[in-house]
Amino acid sequence: MTKILLVNPPVYDFSAYDLWAKPLGLLYLSSILKQQNIDVQFFDYMDRNYPNIPKQPSNEYGCGHYIQQEIEKPLVIHNIKRKYHRFGIPSYTAEQFFKTIEQPDIIIIGSIMTYWYLGIIEVSELLKRIFPETPIILSGIYATLCNEHAKTIKSIDNVVTGTFDSFTPVFKKYNINIEIDSNFEKFPLPDYSFYKNQEYIALKTSIGCPFKCNYCAQYILNNNTYTIKNPLVIKDEIYKLTYNNVENVVFYDDALIFNSDKLMKILLKELQKDNKNFYFHTPNGLHARFLDQELAELMFNAKFIQPRFSLETSNSQEQKNSNNKVSNSEYERTIKYLNNAGYNKGEYITYLLIGMPGQNIENIKESIKYVHNLGSKISLSEYSPIPYTKDWQTLPEELKQDPLTQNNTYFMTLNKDYDKLIKLKEYAKNLNKQL
Ligand code: SF4
Repeated sequence: MTKILLVNPPVYDFSAYDLWAKPLGLLYLSSILKQQNIDVQFFDYMDRNYPNIPKQPSNEYGCGHYIQQEIEKPLVIHNIKRKYHRFGIPSYTAEQFFKTIEQPDIIIIGSIMTYWYLGIIEVSELLKRIFPETPIILSGIYATLCNEHAKTIKSIDNVVTGTFDSFTPVFKKYNINIEIDSNFEKFPLPDYSFYKNQEYIALKTSIGCPFKCNYCAQYILNNNTYTIKNPLVIKDEIYKLTYNNVENVVFYDDALIFNSDKLMKILLKELQKDNKNFYFHTPNGLHARFLDQELAELMFNAKFIQPRFSLETSNSQEQKNSNNKVSNSEYERTIKYLNNAGYNKGEYITYLLIGMPGQNIENIKESIKYVHNLGSKISLSEYSPIPYTKDWQTLPEELKQDPLTQNNTYFMTLNKDYDKLIKLKEYAKNLNKQL
């Protein structure tokens, strides 16, 4: 039986927090491989509940801090005046696990943020030392967006880009004749069987997004596709994944409430029939244009906790510059629907972007005030440059050499108004406390 080891590497960054973060791509891949009779082993360095590591407390919905260890900053970002850390399960614990398993035929390492590649180097070097004969394949977001850079990592044998079907020719190279289908409608349940202690489950109802915002690269990650699953299949998946009484269900969709008559409304009405107790979470911002009164009520009754909406900016020119994702009137309408449905002020969150190229500092302050006055908590997302986006073309060349410089913290420090941006973060935090 062919044996494949899947690994989610540790994170190297200035900060990291488990806001329902799971390596969902690898979890779907695990199920797909098992369907093809592959013997799958799995190791997630970011599992906060891994046995025998210091326990980090979780909040009531399963979020919390990772174990961390301060490390020296890499040269390219050494002048940032913030501490740099390695987050996740210690290397010696991972090594102990790898030494207990049989030699895999293939190792697949997943990747997320482009500027986290130091974790991939750490893991691939360790695995090459333990399993020198086993080919290592790198997949995921960094592998796709920084393909040429990823190919320079010596301990990686193959870099796979884009969707799951790109694994098939690489497997063939190693005489493993399985076809991996990228059709999301046919994806089985994500495989949570390796987690000993689950506080939440995450899944997707759809893949891709029908929009193309100037700062987002989802279109290239999903081959320009947007596919939804049948809502009755999703209902079944939620029930199966929560068989052990897990109550927190997290949606990872990029466009969860787009086309809600075909998906989300049907799903929530179906769930309502059985009167089960779940708490739903939406860490990826919902598109504020697509909420209507009926959906707001269904979400409230189903217990969507602090639903998060993306506005990014309330300045109309900045909205226009980033492809008119949502207007203020659409956003205000959404807030009205939420209030009518039963949400109180402070029970919903709005994402605003800070540090966008050319963004006026006064506009950020205005956006913060605007969102606060409408009763929403504010979550400020620090802008980070992403390859293949429209914005990317306008950025200075020196930012394109090493993905470490795509780090949001690093990018913010380049801003001439850096000190003012830090003060605005405090300002937003204080306003949130008033709600
Ligand atoms: S930012 Fe959101 S709405 Fe815009 S393209 Fe990306 S996923 Fe779609």
